[in-house]
Amino acid sequence: MAEIVLETRSVSRSFGAMPAVDGVDLTVRAGEVVAVMGPSGSGKSTLLHLVAGLLRPDSGEVWFDGTRLDNQPEHARARTRLRHMGFVFQFGDLVPELTVVENVELPLRLLGTARASARARALEMLDRFGIAEQADRRLSEVSGGQAQRAAVARALVHQPAVVLADEPTGSLDTLTGELVLEELVGAAAERGTAVVLVTHELRVASYADRDVLVRDGRIVADPVGAVPS
Ligand code: ADP
Ligand code: MG
Repeated sequence: MAEIVLETRSVSRSFGAMPAVDGVDLTVRAGEVVAVMGPSGSGKSTLLHLVAGLLRPDSGEVWFDGTRLDNQPEHARARTRLRHMGFVFQFGDLVPELTVVENVELPLRLLGTARASARARALEMLDRFGIAEQADRRLSEVSGGQAQRAAVARALVHQPAVVLADEPTGSLDTLTGELVLEELVGAAAERGTAVVLVTHELRVASYADRDVLVRDGRIVADPVGAVPS
């Protein structure tokens, strides 16, 4: 079996008295596509933020590629995120003032790739996602679906080890949604990218190797993970 890339060990996080994520054990291997499903408010987004090191757990551990992540200082977690992870956040975190292509080349620029080759790779991604014509438009001036595709292009442009995608097809029509899913699944198959896909659509989950069901912050079904308590 492929190596484990991501692992949470009994990870918990509350907001006030309310546990949002409650003792979750999740293991994701290289090349695996895992769909995280569950009702609204069940803790899916919080779990992704914990895995990304964007939120610290109250208890439990988060491991990335054999190294414990959650107890590292923020600058170290930020470096791991930048180099090795790609994100598609539910409420978007592209930069509205930048153009589409500037948003997509951002991870490469931050990693020190020269402007010309970063631009070329970003344009290639835009082409794959069918938004090449929008390259020089400001993000604030393209449609929600085009911005969503730009977000997925940006998550993949630096060929990260892990992609964490929160409802990546949320604002897309069926056909465009399939294009996005095929790019994510393709990255997993071709480059061994581990993909964690939060969704509430069964259609989307059908692209995954494995479905994990979350309810009230707990994993209630995971075909290969820990036995639910
Ligand atoms: P999902 O993504 O499955 O809809 P979330 O992880 O967003 O669920 O939320 C899980 C629970 O944690 C919800 O009850 C939500 O209101 C709460 N929650 C999430 N983020 C915050 C926050 N930053 N502050 C307070 N409560 C939060
Ligand atoms: Mg959510």
